[in-house]
Amino acid sequence: MIKVFKFGGASVKDADSVKNVLRVLEPYRDEKIAVVISAMGKTTNALERLLHAYFYHTDMLEEEFNFVRDYHFKIIGDLFPDKNHEVYGDVAGVFASLKSWLENAPSDNYDYEYDQIVSLGEIISTKIVSAYLNMSGMENLWVDARNIIRTDNTYRDAKIEWDKTSELVKGLMKFHREKIYITQGFIGGTSENISTTLGREGSDFSAAILAWSLDAEKVAIWKDVPGVLNADPKYFDNTIKLDQLSYHDAIELAYYGASVIHPKTIKPLQNKKIPLWVKSFVEPKEKGTVIQSDRDGLVVPSFIFKMNQVLVTIAARDFSFIAEQNLRDIFHEISKLRIKINLMENTALSFSICTDWDERKIPELIKSLEDEFMVKYNRGLELVTIRHYDQQTIDRVTVNKDILLEEKSRYTVQMVMRDLNCVDE
Ligand code: ASP
Ligand code: MG
Repeated sequence: MIKVFKFGGASVKDADSVKNVLRVLEPYRDEKIAVVISAMGKTTNALERLLHAYFYHTDMLEEEFNFVRDYHFKIIGDLFPDKNHEVYGDVAGVFASLKSWLENAPSDNYDYEYDQIVSLGEIISTKIVSAYLNMSGMENLWVDARNIIRTDNTYRDAKIEWDKTSELVKGLMKFHREKIYITQGFIGGTSENISTTLGREGSDFSAAILAWSLDAEKVAIWKDVPGVLNADPKYFDNTIKLDQLSYHDAIELAYYGASVIHPKTIKPLQNKKIPLWVKSFVEPKEKGTVIQSDRDGLVVPSFIFKMNQVLVTIAARDFSFIAEQNLRDIFHEISKLRIKINLMENTALSFSICTDWDERKIPELIKSLEDEFMVKYNRGLELVTIRHYDQQTIDRVTVNKDILLEEKSRYTVQMVMRDLNCVDE
């Protein structure tokens, strides 16, 4: 049976981390594994800055380019003492093609340019890791995900063509003689061979797509945490590691911001009943968390915060009620801008949505609605979601918070809040 492993940016952020990937894979050397790897460290952020400089013609272009290039060549230098190793030329080739791309004027489609440039982070990281594993005696084959993960051309949020993808994956990852394939997370390609990306942090989703396509036995996501915790250790002490989680709980938690797993990851696995392990790359022998079945609920209340939220409140200028007609117009704009709603509420006279703050999309939304509606917004907010809530947990997460909106259902409570410790923007 085939296993799919995923290593995120933090697990390949420098030469030592790459060496650790070899250590994690060692016990599985005789098994069939498809390995999905993200861009190294914070490369995706750096490439986003590079794109910004290119698209908006700022004078940071060269600096951002050199930053990304030097970062990778430092890692290569640390891993490959033989300066004639082919990885040097291979990666230099990627940077040369990036450079010539940047020398031409950008098209007017930001999202398209994004995918052509930002997708290279994964191309580079997998070339380095694949070459390093081969050099260390762990034979593997590098596969270009743009040839197997077939998507439409919704740049930055590309939709998977599942059946075609499955056919392409099976065609290229045959597991006859080869045992280990290395490929990129986060990226795919259209039928016209144009690169696409699946949305930030999309590598987990890539692993799920491969697992689904290959009818894998399981997926393991290797992380710098011991598993899925009941709260974000960045904000809370005394977090508890969950040994087991149902698919349903995992989806709810991931959708509302638990950064351990990308929300789109779970569904394809659930459909084929493929278990998902979240394991530590620091302590690879420890058990981690397994997400499987729908019977085993959470034993403890879990809560997650989504920061940097904005609450947009929309009311009709003519004081008419917010009803079907208005809602249709509002939703039309929201979907045109591909804004994802985290929470919404309507009253007779107004309609509110809570969404991630986006410096491009939110002002555009407001502009498009302003003729017909009065639009107000509050930014710098937090959205907390508590799954299997109890009063004690609600009290714990609302200390020093002003609650602007609250929604309760049987298993989940969500609150949009302002942190009273923070000064207003
Ligand atoms: N490198 C991409 C990102 O940072 C994808 C991923 O890491 O999952 O968003
Ligand atoms: Mg990442």
